[in-house]
Amino acid sequence: KKTQRIDKILGHLGKGSRSDLKKMVKQGRITLNGQVLKDSGAQADPYIDQIEVDGEAIFYREFVYIMLHKPAGVVSATEDQRDRTVIDLLPEQYKCFELFPVGRLDKDTEGLLLLTNDGQLAHDLLSPRKHVPKTYFAKVEGHVGDREAQRFVDGVTLDDGYKTLPAHLQVLQHVEKDDRKLSLIELTISEGKFHQVKRMFEAVDSKVLFLKRISMGSLALDEELPLGASRELHPEELASLM
Ligand code: URA
Repeated sequence: KKTQRIDKILGHLGKGSRSDLKKMVKQGRITLNGQVLKDSGAQADPYIDQIEVDGEAIFYREFVYIMLHKPAGVVSATEDQRDRTVIDLLPEQYKCFELFPVGRLDKDTEGLLLLTNDGQLAHDLLSPRKHVPKTYFAKVEGHVGDREAQRFVDGVTLDDGYKTLPAHLQVLQHVEKDDRKLSLIELTISEGKFHQVKRMFEAVDSKVLFLKRISMGSLALDEELPLGASRELHPEELASLM
């Protein structure tokens, strides 16, 4: 049996500080397996024992995994002096978990962002040696096609001299807008250099006008999630990421 102090269990879930919880116990607001708790330092197994606060059962978990449909205009950070962050978009009940984004999307990029407090999973997904594929939808300038696709397979040289790993370009559609040619594409890359997609299109004399991440490894953006909304990963989504 894996037990912890009850004030620690409830503190992890954001139910209050150690002294708050001591008071709540004094007020008789916390029960353990149906009995009013007398000591906030008593031990319990948060996965097995039934703990209630004000008559409501707690739902304990150490790690939380959230899929966010990131909108443009927010930064992929936990804190920022000027801008709203992706953490600011999460519902209040997640504020206690010290979540952080797994990797970064640019301020003007939309789409799939995973947030967690599981450092090991984040590390594994971001490790440059693991080459976790990431797929982006983009609207780019000009008529890109087979020539650009081949250049991305071969690797292009970015403005700092870095040569990219093979990437897969799929052209979805060519459109003309106000006498301008645009291409709608999907690009899959297996690394994550700074501004990588934008710089890859610069390397082939195009320009990204709109960028949205649609998948990361086995995890695909849930198209039912409106911009700015988030939800916890389903168990099978989490299992396939691990
Ligand atoms: N590549 C970019 O250029 N920007 C992003 O936000 C993600 C990948």
